[in-house]
Amino acid sequence: MSTTSPTSLANFEIRPTATPTSDEDRAAALAAPRFGTAFTDHMARISWTAEQGWHDRRVEAYGPLRLDPATAVLHYAQEIFEGLKAYRHADGSVWTFRPEANAQRFARSAHRLALPVLSEQDFLDSLAALVATDSAWIPTGEETSLYLRPFMYASEVFLGVRPSAAAEYLVIASPVGPYFASGVRPVSIWVAEDYHRAGAGGTGAAKCGGNYAASLLPQQEAQALGFDQVCFLDSSTNTLVEELGGMNVFVVHADGSVSTPELSGSILEGVTRSSILQLVRDAGHEVRERPIPLAELRAGLEDGSVTEVFACGTAAVVTPIGRLGGVGFDLTVADGEAGPVTSSIRAELTDIQYGRAADRHGWLHRLL
Ligand SMILES: *Cc1c(COP(=O)(O)O)cnc(C)c1O
Repeated sequence: MSTTSPTSLANFEIRPTATPTSDEDRAAALAAPRFGTAFTDHMARISWTAEQGWHDRRVEAYGPLRLDPATAVLHYAQEIFEGLKAYRHADGSVWTFRPEANAQRFARSAHRLALPVLSEQDFLDSLAALVATDSAWIPTGEETSLYLRPFMYASEVFLGVRPSAAAEYLVIASPVGPYFASGVRPVSIWVAEDYHRAGAGGTGAAKCGGNYAASLLPQQEAQALGFDQVCFLDSSTNTLVEELGGMNVFVVHADGSVSTPELSGSILEGVTRSSILQLVRDAGHEVRERPIPLAELRAGLEDGSVTEVFACGTAAVVTPIGRLGGVGFDLTVADGEAGPVTSSIRAELTDIQYGRAADRHGWLHRLL
């Protein structure tokens, strides 16, 4: 592509960077991609104002944003995001996974945060335009991908508590390797009883930065106790398992059935979660979305009726949970290793994403 003349892709004007990364530097970034540390040369962007609506769809040089210190998002956290991946298949084609679901969740998050709703078409087009522009950045190694991070923030310059009359939508992209560099490793989870991620009527079902800010201190405290991550309970009764800071949770029972906490309004509706529910059903397991009391999970781990516990999300796909601790208990899940149901679900899902297994539910969306 010429570095001077703007072209257009899927309604997006392409304004190529004047300073593209050299082939050597890009090769170095792609050789050992660490999650979220290297970014491609461009970003997709659409601006919004109350008067003009969404306008100025473009792909431009990746770079710092200049923000007035009074920009609304810096004060009242009116911000949302998404996360999905572009996968290169063996034949060179590039695909993403259920992006319509991410587009729809982004619209629901926008509604909850009083941000303008971006159409599904604009969301999908922005991914296609960015990935086409930066296609040289899509890694080719096993379990590598280009992580896509769409986000939107309130950009009006004012101090006042009301929805912003201006917003910016951007997509940035980062080449990523396997989430666990040394293979899938079971994680240890601390169940927080004195902090909650979200409350009834709050923003738990929206993918917003504020939820993550609230999860950092509990996460830090759990790490100080020697655990990898935190599991949150519901804030109303402090007895029901909800999810981790950024991943949903599944429980596998000795009778082969599988359970996951039902969407209560304070749990984030993961695309991976919904895909796993389908795959587990397809495999003939009984699946229940239901309230899961911590007491029941603890008892099941003690008497062996719970055989596996795992977490899931786009970034790490499926992560076995090998140890569950909290105030007054510290339990190993079965033998502490990844169980067979967890491993087979992980393999099945990644096989579909990388084009190694039939896409029988039409989940893949071609980008290139
Ligand atoms: C993003 C996210 C998940 C996982 O969602 P996926 O669509 O599967 O990536 C789970 N919980 C929280 C809190 C999240 O933000």
